[in-house]
Amino acid sequence: MATGASVPKDATEEPSEESALETARRQLDQAATLLDIDPNVVERLKHPQRVERVSVPLERDDGSVEVFTGYRAQHDSVRGPFKGGLRYHPDVSEDECIGLAMWMTWKCAVMDLPFGGAKGGVVVDPKTLSDEEKERLTRRFTQELRDVIGPMDDIPAPDMGTDAETMGWIMDAYSMQEGETTPGVVTGKPPVIGGSYGRAEAPGRSVAIITREVCEYYDHDLSETTVAVQGFGSVGANAASLLDSWGANIVAVSDVDGGVYDPEGLDTSAIKSHGEQPTAVGSVEDAERISNEELLTLDVDVLIPAAIGNVLTEANAHDVDASIIVEGANGPTTSTADAIFEQRGIPVIPDILANAGGVTVSYFEWLQDINRQGWTLERVNEELESRMLTAWENVQEAHELDADVSWRDATYVVGLQRIVEAHTYRGLWP
Ligand code: GLU
Repeated sequence: MATGASVPKDATEEPSEESALETARRQLDQAATLLDIDPNVVERLKHPQRVERVSVPLERDDGSVEVFTGYRAQHDSVRGPFKGGLRYHPDVSEDECIGLAMWMTWKCAVMDLPFGGAKGGVVVDPKTLSDEEKERLTRRFTQELRDVIGPMDDIPAPDMGTDAETMGWIMDAYSMQEGETTPGVVTGKPPVIGGSYGRAEAPGRSVAIITREVCEYYDHDLSETTVAVQGFGSVGANAASLLDSWGANIVAVSDVDGGVYDPEGLDTSAIKSHGEQPTAVGSVEDAERISNEELLTLDVDVLIPAAIGNVLTEANAHDVDASIIVEGANGPTTSTADAIFEQRGIPVIPDILANAGGVTVSYFEWLQDINRQGWTLERVNEELESRMLTAWENVQEAHELDADVSWRDATYVVGLQRIVEAHTYRGLWP
């Protein structure tokens, strides 16, 4: 099968920086070769429907004014309103938002949610803002996006550098302008103002569910499975503690400052997430200190990159010693690294399946909001489990049709088939 990317012979070659958009387009082309689909639809899907670029003036605490750039990329809405996170990060760019919006389109389709894909953000390092500045920036950004977001149009959610509190400010700013409380405009809010129980833990929970299922698929008894998790934010910390509670052996975790390794297993319940306590990983006692790069090449059964994008590249893919990779972050594997893993026979379970619990519980939250209902945590977790298992079965079926089809391609096939079918029914107008 064509991999769509060349495999370098020499791992010491300079790693090429690949943008999320390049990766997303390449993955789309690759998956399209596996389906008998109209090339015109594929061409359409390479481009976003709309990208809103806004200037966001912020009055700093010292009275000076700084102007930040914000984006909202809306990729495809053939199956429903746009859906996807907003990130606050210095590397946010138009191309990154478009690439991440494309992934949201596929992710929603893989989970069979009635949403299309979007992503946005502000080019800012949130660590340089006071809480008050972050709130003012968020409210003004919401105002700038007011014409393009809405409960039936485009529903933002948390992503890197944003959280439940940020979503609460967006909900309030939007509602004040609308003149009525509109909780359905955004998901990932605190439960007391219309957020869903279980939303914050959901991406980590889905990573854990998929890891458990993949281990079973490859006959790894969970109680004998060793796991390394890069990133101890919400996704990594929740995935690690759930897998730990289900019997897996979490031998390494890391945050932005480095990691800890104990071949006997770490007590993850004693390590707070980076958001709760930024020094938690660094203060684990009786464990070997390792770098993030070393964590990625540990000899473990499962590697979960759950921090940022582009960490598995042509520079380190040959050195990865894990038997299975489950993507917790969005886009942690470059196309070239993906091709190397395929050649080496290391299965990579893609982000658009593994971390899709986040947008799935966002969907539950949106349903609760627009119907003025509240679900129990038990109901949320049960429905999430059932949706994850259905998606995993659908992907397994696509994977088993052809032994050469990678897990990523199989996942794309499931999502893309639904999107293309929807485009075919709706047609191009005029
Ligand atoms: N930002 C999350 C993601 O990448 C969630 C998006 C959402 O809930 O809308 O999947």
